[in-house]
Order: sequence, then structure tokens, then C-alpha cells
Amino acid sequence: MNPCDFSLGKPQSAEKVCLNKEASLSKHCSKNAQKDLSLVTPNAGGYPEERRCREHAKMLDCYCQDDLACVCAMCSSVGSHKGHSIVALKEEHDKQRVILSLTMKSIQENKNAVNKVLMHLQKSEDQIKYNKKSLTVQLSKLFQEIKSQVNQKEKQILGDIQSNEEKQLADIFALKKKAEGKRDAALHGLQELQMLTKQADAFRFLKDFQLAQERIKKQNSSNESVEVLTVHLDESVIQDVRSHTEAYLSNLDNLMQVVHGKIINQTQWCRAIPAAEFSLDDVVCEVFPSPPSPQTRKLSGTNSAAAHLTFGNMEQDP
Ligand SMILES: [Zn+2]
Ligand SMILES: [Zn+2]
Repeated sequence: MNPCDFSLGKPQSAEKVCLNKEASLSKHCSKNAQKDLSLVTPNAGGYPEERRCREHAKMLDCYCQDDLACVCAMCSSVGSHKGHSIVALKEEHDKQRVILSLTMKSIQENKNAVNKVLMHLQKSEDQIKYNKKSLTVQLSKLFQEIKSQVNQKEKQILGDIQSNEEKQLADIFALKKKAEGKRDAALHGLQELQMLTKQADAFRFLKDFQLAQERIKKQNSSNESVEVLTVHLDESVIQDVRSHTEAYLSNLDNLMQVVHGKIINQTQWCRAIPAAEFSLDDVVCEVFPSPPSPQTRKLSGTNSAAAHLTFGNMEQDP
């Protein structure tokens, strides 16, 4: 046990050690210790050798900004870091803490911006789905209309042919009835004349034959009939209908190309400064301005760590 050098009475186990005063403090004492003590919790690793200069065996309480290394006072005054830009360890600590908080703020801002992008991407996804759905509904309705009009036209044309057939068959039927009546009358007249051939009485014969002849004269001798021409779709008509259909479909295609183009170009790419291109050097330069050197300034101007993720041209066609 490493005993506390300050606890009164019963010895307490030391939890902290002071790097400068080379003292061990218990939990209680370390809380009440003076602020200028550099208290650390010894870790299993390398205390205290790790915190001492190997060359000069002094506390590493300085910081070389040229080498980004912790050094001792001797290193900075007479050692290998002589003439380098040296600051107190605490000063560098304070500076790096500022950089840390700025870095966290910047990452938080970028995180918020990425969340905005994610929300926007979700909106875009929904819009694509909505566009596809509404377009599908509209086009289906339109094509349903076209098909129903074509079907209606077919029904109407076939219906006209059907009713024409009925009308003309009725005319033929009437002519057939008339012709059958004439055939019966002729048969009847022939039978009468047949009877006359057997009439031996001259008076009766002459009288009856005269009557029969008058009846024959009254009969309409004209026989009405109907000639029906062969009708079918001419090859030229079929070709005409086909080429009209092709022209119609081609026009429809042109109109649909416009719609198709719109749906292809519905995604407008937005340029946003990516959160990953964050440069700590720029933070340092902004907070602790120093004469520009090619190393630290190489990324400045392209973006700044504090830069907000900006949305580019996010407006969409309504
Ligand atoms: Zn040293
Ligand atoms: Zn140095």
C-alpha cells in the first residue's frame, strides 16, 4: 500500500500522487489539495517513469509545439528542444481543450446536417414512390379509357352490321313471301286451265276461259329479286386501319416520352459539403491564428471545420 502523506491518524491508502511535489494523497486529501498540485491517478502503466524525461529525469511539464511532444524544462533550455516553440503543458492542455470542444461542436453540427440529409432522402424516397403510384393510376385510367373507347367502337360497328343484316333479311323475307304467293296463284291458275281442257261445252268454255284470261292479265308478272354483292374488308382498308393505328400509337408514344423523361429526371442531385472532409488544422488556424505555413494551410479555403453542411440546389420541380 502506498500511504497518504497528508492523512492524519490512521494511515489511508493513497489514490492520487502529485507529480511536482512527489507526494501521495488519499481520496479525501486530494479533494482538499491545493489547485497547483498536479494530481494524477497512477495507472498500471508507467508512472512515474512515463512522466519524467528519460534524459534529465525531470517532470515533463513543458510542451514542444514543433515536435508535438511533452518535454522537460531542461530539454527546452539546453536539451534537444532548445530554440523550439515551447509552452507550459497546462497552456497546451487549455488550448487543446478548446480545440476539443470546437471539434465536438463541429461534429455535432455535421451530425445535425447529416440528419437533415437523411430526412431529405426519406422525403425523396417517398416522393419517388408517390410519383410512381399516381402516374400509374393516371396512365392506367387513361389506357382503360382508350381500350373502352376502342371496344365501344368495335361494338358499335359490329352492331350496325348486325342491324343492317336484320333489315335487309326482312326485305328479302318480304320478297320471298310475295314470290311464294305468286307461285301459289300460278299453281291455282294452272289447275283451273287444266280443268278447262276438259270442258266440252263451247259456251261454258268460252265464258270461263275469258274470265280466266282476265285474272291472268291482272296478275303482276314482274318478279322482284335482290342481287347481293360480295362484301369483305379490302386489303387496302385493312392496311389503312393498320397504318392509322401505328400513327396513333406513335403519337401516343411521343406524348408518353415526355412523361417518361420527366420521371427519369425527377431526381435532382443536391451537392452538400460532406461532413467527413473536416480538417482539424483549420480549427487551430481559426482559433489560434499563426503565420500561414504550407502544412497547416493547405486545406483552408476549401472548407472550414466550422462550416455548416449546406444544401445545394435542393428545390425540385413542383
Ligand atoms: Zn528533458
Ligand atoms: Zn522540439
